[in-house]
Amino acid sequence: MSPEEQEQNNEKAVEHGRWLFSQTCTFLVGAVKMEDLPEASQTEIAFAGRSNVGKSSLINALTNHKDLARTSNTPGRTQQVNFFNLGKQLTIADLPGYGYAKAPRETVRQWTNLVGDYLQGRMQLRRSCLLIDSRHGIKESDRKVMRMLDKSAVSYQIILTKCDKIKPAQLEKLLITTSTEIESHVAAHPELIATSSVKGIGIVDLRATLAALVTER
Ligand code: GDP
Repeated sequence: MSPEEQEQNNEKAVEHGRWLFSQTCTFLVGAVKMEDLPEASQTEIAFAGRSNVGKSSLINALTNHKDLARTSNTPGRTQQVNFFNLGKQLTIADLPGYGYAKAPRETVRQWTNLVGDYLQGRMQLRRSCLLIDSRHGIKESDRKVMRMLDKSAVSYQIILTKCDKIKPAQLEKLLITTSTEIESHVAAHPELIATSSVKGIGIVDLRATLAALVTER
């Protein structure tokens, strides 16, 4: 493909992403068990990450909402997967945050069961976005989830969040170390996307990447 053709394709992908994410996005259901999952009729993508990683902010930024996704990580609160319908084209699954240091064992077990069941039983799940706080990089609790995703053969992509909080040189370094680490993870997508919901960085790219998954169906 010539550079011009490549450029045209990129522009098309960006436009498709812009269009898709300008569609109406509505809350479908909060699922606490497999039986609650909404019918599987369209492409689905999931968002996962440690508590406070910036997941709600990113989903809100992608869909141009102020409070579509809310922080639901209050310790002790029921853990659920929140589903959203974007323009009858794409289902967005917002997985409960993990890695809260003081979480009781029972909460961790509940999380693992719910998310494990979800990941293994969801045929239309095309990709999981695994959010990593750029100030902290990949932590042990993220590695556990990465192994779970590898095992379930669910394709996942690392999305760095809060990139406005670190210096460009730190971000460069983080991109290199993270890329190196994911090489050994079989289900990890090689391309990383650096984002900031506050500054709007990477949002256009992420929309384009996710919209392409709908087209490829
Ligand atoms: P969640 O628990 O993963 O849903 O995280 P939230 O979206 O609620 O964000 C957690 C905290 O990080 C909040 O105080 C947000 O304002 C802040 N935050 C989220 N995204 C960004 C970002 O891109 N840049 C900065 N500077 N702060 C962010």
